[in-house]
Amino acid sequence: MGLVVQKYGGSSVADAEGIKRVAKRIVEAKKNGNQVVAVVSAMGDSTDELIDLAEQVSPIPAGRELDMLLTAGERISMALLAMAIKNLGHEAQSFTGSQAGVITDSVHNKARIIDVTPGRIRTSVDEGNVAIVAGFQGVSQDSKDITTLGRGGSDTTAVALAAALDADVCEIYTDVDGVFTADPRVVKKARKIDWISFEDMLELAASGSKVLLHRCVEYARRYNIPIHVRSSFSGLQGTWVSNEPPVSKQGDQQVEHAIISGVAHDVSEAKVTVVGVPDKPGEAAAIFRAIADAEINIDMVVQNVSAAATSLTDISFTLPKSEGRKATTALEKIKASVGYDSLRYDDQIGKISLVGAGMKTNPGVTAQFFEALSDAGVNIELISTSEIRISVITREDDVVEGLRAVHSSFGLDSESDEAVVYGGTGR
Ligand code: ASP
Ligand code: MG
Repeated sequence: MGLVVQKYGGSSVADAEGIKRVAKRIVEAKKNGNQVVAVVSAMGDSTDELIDLAEQVSPIPAGRELDMLLTAGERISMALLAMAIKNLGHEAQSFTGSQAGVITDSVHNKARIIDVTPGRIRTSVDEGNVAIVAGFQGVSQDSKDITTLGRGGSDTTAVALAAALDADVCEIYTDVDGVFTADPRVVKKARKIDWISFEDMLELAASGSKVLLHRCVEYARRYNIPIHVRSSFSGLQGTWVSNEPPVSKQGDQQVEHAIISGVAHDVSEAKVTVVGVPDKPGEAAAIFRAIADAEINIDMVVQNVSAAATSLTDISFTLPKSEGRKATTALEKIKASVGYDSLRYDDQIGKISLVGAGMKTNPGVTAQFFEALSDAGVNIELISTSEIRISVITREDDVVEGLRAVHSSFGLDSESDEAVVYGGTGR
């Protein structure tokens, strides 16, 4: 008998019908001889609605109380799901994150899991129950306060529980049929990926792909938990994310490694340019120290060659739009000491990234990427690369067109429009 951890996202449990559908699917897995632990998110957009509500009573809600509020969302879906399963004649018990043994640090609103002690969950499934666990939440080891893991954190709960319970697989049910070669909401010809390595998936998640959170994939890789991303609406085979490609049914051949796994896009970043920086040691250090001290994570950095005549250079970097104000304020403060001319802030940018471990050994990928963009009339503003990724910054308006062009150029288009989006508002 195997143990499966299944995670159902907000769109899968958006209403009573959805909860009943999920209950049936869980019972199915149980009837197939598995022990089942199901992790649930809050219904539909209810987390967003709770945040809106909090902001109506306080512009900057206290972190501890916000966590108390938001964790209520997952408690609603877990209790309803347990009721629905019982109604089908099977035993089920729901547990909060704290009861399930999800222990975190004490950083409210984005806590990190530091330990999972799933004793009660183990007992519950051993007694024949389906154990339902509220995703996205835990309890602080130090303060004993309730914490949340950051938006979309239920995936991480599922993988962490799967690791602690030594589950055979962690199934993540979502509103699309798996991981696609591009966001199927934007690229209709995106193709479902059958298998993708942790490495490529991490890079896609870091480049703006939203289907799995970076932190969740990181956790799965660390504990070597295979993830099966699939739809709760269709029941089709989804995408396997693991270290090694699965061996085919015939047992002889592995699924081939694709050269390119997919393209990701991100329009959540902005670009700051520090204009007229003296070209001497210590200037970049001072700029990025100020940014670091403001606790801002940056993405790309580019320094222009200084014009020989002036010995001044420009330094550009990208960061989340939401941190734009903080960054420019921090840089204004060091204007005199660094001696730069001015700051430019641009939030009309987008990023397109091409990801695939195969680019390490296949020359010409970069050239083909840039050619595809140029054929589509898309101008490149910044470039950055890793061993298995090339990213460019373009105008925000050019992202969709550039994305589609690159997707076609690398032969990723499917013959038919197979990408179905079953639910969710993408909010
Ligand atoms: N309900 C939380 C959110 O919307 C957690 C999750 O969905 O994973 O962010
Ligand atoms: Mg959600």
